[in-house]
Amino acid sequence: MSESDHQNGTDSSLMFDPSLHDRALAGWGIRRRRGDLAHEEKNSEENILLNSPEDSTLKGASTAGCAPPEGNPPVEVLENLDLGSISQLVASCERCGLCEHRQNTVFGSGDPSARLMFVGDAPGEEEDLQGLPFVGRSGQLLDRILSQGLKLTRDIVYITNVLKCRPPESRDPLPEEVQSCGSYLDAQIERVNPEMIVALGKPAAQFLTGEDTSLKRLRGRKHVYKGVPVVVTHHPAFLLQQPQAKAECWQDLQVVIETLGLK
Ligand code: URA
Repeated sequence: MSESDHQNGTDSSLMFDPSLHDRALAGWGIRRRRGDLAHEEKNSEENILLNSPEDSTLKGASTAGCAPPEGNPPVEVLENLDLGSISQLVASCERCGLCEHRQNTVFGSGDPSARLMFVGDAPGEEEDLQGLPFVGRSGQLLDRILSQGLKLTRDIVYITNVLKCRPPESRDPLPEEVQSCGSYLDAQIERVNPEMIVALGKPAAQFLTGEDTSLKRLRGRKHVYKGVPVVVTHHPAFLLQQPQAKAECWQDLQVVIETLGLK
């Protein structure tokens, strides 16, 4: 791929056969490809999903103590902002206690109009230091999954997390943190408007499916979040610990390859 291809977002490996794509999306209960036409209205009837989850929040998530402190922008403010402005808001966010110990917020990286988005759970130590998602060991494996599995590079996909700040000791996100931060991810999904999302690991999968269940139960099923098909797979950190699970990850990614026509 040439440098100019990168810059123009015209990488030929991302070309796909529209009929293949439509057929694959039909399998998710979606009648047609999203964002096909530049002039298409986002909420046009043809874009309506048949099985979209109603709610962005984790089912059963506690909302106790997660009201945004005074001075923080209400969720509706995000509606009028572009990605850069939302990122700036996130940088000064104090919606939950994670702001107290962060070095940097980690908003997201990659192509803001990517066809494919990856969502992990939360930044780790290295991400917190650099302010970029998936730049530690998990990120190195994600790069290899992208290059070897999908023949892509991270600059032509969009990578982000459910939480924008590192939890202490890199523990899993708490429901109230997800509740506070989820509207940022929602806004990112809306702006990037990807054709497919890959949920990496259980917290991201639970957020994007609205199902409070195991990764095992979420993998291999059709999910749709806000109009976007969601594929659930293992988190790279898990794959580093359990390399034999890479085969399952590869299996999960077949649907991405087929749907986006990545050969
Ligand atoms: N794990 C994640 O879920 N996200 C990152 O950005 C890094 C590690």
